[in-house]
Amino acid sequence: MQKQEQQLVQALIEQLTIEEKIQMIHGAGLFRTGGVSRLDLPPLRMSDGPMGVRAEFADDKWEGIGEGYDEVSYLPSNSAVAATWNPHLARVAGEVLGAEARGRGKDVILAPGINIKRSPLCGRNFEYMSEDPYLIETLVVPMIKGIQQNDVAACVKHFAANSQETNRSWVDTKVDERALQEIYFPGFKAAVKKADTYALMGAYNQLNGEHCCTSKALLNKVLREQWEYEGTIISDWGGVHDTQLAAESALDIEMDVKASFEKYYMANALLEKVKKGEIAEAFIDEKVRHILEMMLRLKMIGAHKTERKSGTYNTRAHQEALLEVARESVILLKNESYHLPLQKEKLKTIAVIGSNATTIHSNGGGSAEIKALYEITPLMGIKTLLGGNVEVKYAKGYDVPIWEEDTSWQETSVGIQEEASSMVQELKLDTKKTINQETSQLLREEALKIAKEADEVIFIGGLNHQFDVEGVDRENMRLPYKQDELIAALLEINPETVIVLYAGAPVEMPWLERAKNLVWSYYAGMEGGRAIAEVLFGMVNPSGKLPETFIKKVTDCPAHFIGEFGKRDCVTYTEGIMVGYRYYDTYETPVAFPFGYGLSYTSFSYKALEVNKKEESQGVEVLVTVRVGNEGDVTGKEIIQLYIGDIEASVIRPGHELKAYQKVELLPGEVKEVQFILDAGAFSFYDEQEKCFRAEAGKFLIEVGSSSRAIQLTQAIDLEWHHKLQD
Ligand code: BGC
Repeated sequence: MQKQEQQLVQALIEQLTIEEKIQMIHGAGLFRTGGVSRLDLPPLRMSDGPMGVRAEFADDKWEGIGEGYDEVSYLPSNSAVAATWNPHLARVAGEVLGAEARGRGKDVILAPGINIKRSPLCGRNFEYMSEDPYLIETLVVPMIKGIQQNDVAACVKHFAANSQETNRSWVDTKVDERALQEIYFPGFKAAVKKADTYALMGAYNQLNGEHCCTSKALLNKVLREQWEYEGTIISDWGGVHDTQLAAESALDIEMDVKASFEKYYMANALLEKVKKGEIAEAFIDEKVRHILEMMLRLKMIGAHKTERKSGTYNTRAHQEALLEVARESVILLKNESYHLPLQKEKLKTIAVIGSNATTIHSNGGGSAEIKALYEITPLMGIKTLLGGNVEVKYAKGYDVPIWEEDTSWQETSVGIQEEASSMVQELKLDTKKTINQETSQLLREEALKIAKEADEVIFIGGLNHQFDVEGVDRENMRLPYKQDELIAALLEINPETVIVLYAGAPVEMPWLERAKNLVWSYYAGMEGGRAIAEVLFGMVNPSGKLPETFIKKVTDCPAHFIGEFGKRDCVTYTEGIMVGYRYYDTYETPVAFPFGYGLSYTSFSYKALEVNKKEESQGVEVLVTVRVGNEGDVTGKEIIQLYIGDIEASVIRPGHELKAYQKVELLPGEVKEVQFILDAGAFSFYDEQEKCFRAEAGKFLIEVGSSSRAIQLTQAIDLEWHHKLQD
């Protein structure tokens, strides 16, 4: 911030009355703060969220008002973006989101969501990126930069350790310091230090006994002191529970789901306390300062106001960019007899079976729901790609009870109304139970009939936003609506049935050994159905990889077998740093598909690994090179992953950890040299005694491979010095 700007902020603070300042630091509408027109200070207008700019709501009611103009581009969910392993595409997604937010007149977009996928059952996993902090870090930074280049603030959320939905407003999450530093913080730290995020949202849950939104340990110490964060801190909606704590913590803005704005903790109650001298006005000034500085950076005030970008939404360019992201997010999990891609010229009839072939997903999920301008379903994608020469028969195959998303769910799902929240939960579970047996039977028979008659069978099932949803965790990892039985029956009829699963989190696959062709897609946005079709018919060579481990059953996950997931009062992260593949690979848990896994229609060779080290007492630089070749006859993209294992460590460390990766496109027969540069950080762990990251002298393994379980080349390397890392 330049001197002139600092002076402007100071001058404004001096002119504001205490009433006006308080007006600026709490919600004065469901998605906006109060402005001060006397001084030409506009309100801050905010919107969800990660999958596109949310519908327009009334200021004081959870009621949509934007008829006819608030349909927007529907982005691939963050889990889909993560599946691309492509930082460039994360940037592209961010650029689209930022432009659309600004185009809809927003100042802050409540995205991206980057909580760690600690369990496959967290209801909001679809909104999050990965189980791995390094992968998150490499994607969240470009995504935030993409958003903010549009003069819109990203609001990265939810800080921190918000990895379950059960009793999310109250549950106390106990996490040790090392796990916070190595697993739960890095994404947020990168958002602050590398992406310069203008805003950040506190989480609902408590962390080690303090509510995150007003935690001094988290906000004052970690964010402001240690990471020197100068941006704005916004509460989650209803995440504040105390006036004194809110005022004295580094929180800047209190938002809530209730329309009684003057009753917010940082509204009248705070004003009174300041007037009585119980809370120093200096605390309020600090909050206002952060808000004004953000407004300056967004060109909402100050000398550059007229230069603020205007953004736009629903452009062809946005739709094309999102198609590009969707294409790279599709993951080929099985292609045993090279049946895929399907050859459209050879087909006369195909049977497409399953509800997700036609389900619209954009309008669900909780606060991530949006009104999409359009959404190409997989069936639409397949039909438009095949055209008129192939007969496509569709059968739903199983019964999905209709469940109307109630727009006011948000009001009842948080806050003090704990009972209401469990009511919402029961209601959702109830609807899941009411599958009509008779209808199911008929739908299944119809599906089996068309499967018998077709040249090809494509099953498109998975989950939907009755399961991948905010506010409720999944009960188990099984596919709902008896899909497993249907898949098994289809495989009986046609062993080459192509199974496409569309979901936000892993599911059990009891039929996996019998299935030969398996394709996975996260919620892939408005062009998702087209992307799936292009992969199935070979117009696109799949290049997505799993950003999380697909375990076989939920009890393989440490959070579950130690019984520390989904408890209402307190959840202790006893597994510490052993999250995701860090646990599964270290303890050799058999998995369905490992972290980083994904096939292509070509194959790749890995050769000539070279590791060169330059080390002095002050630091280390390791240059790793490897030659990767395309062995097949189609162009393809490979994600080359570099893991490091610390063999001689004084503390427990995971078998290996992802420390670098690159996505590279190769023509048939082409070979490229891929280079990675590693510094001491890549070898380090968090030392709880010394309170810093430290790389120890000793032996390490450099592993290069195509997934965490398909290491192609390995080389050992010694560090001669201990290296302490500066923050
Ligand atoms: C969610 C946030 C969201 C906010 C505003 C909360 O319930 O946890 O992610 O941004 O609502 O809709």
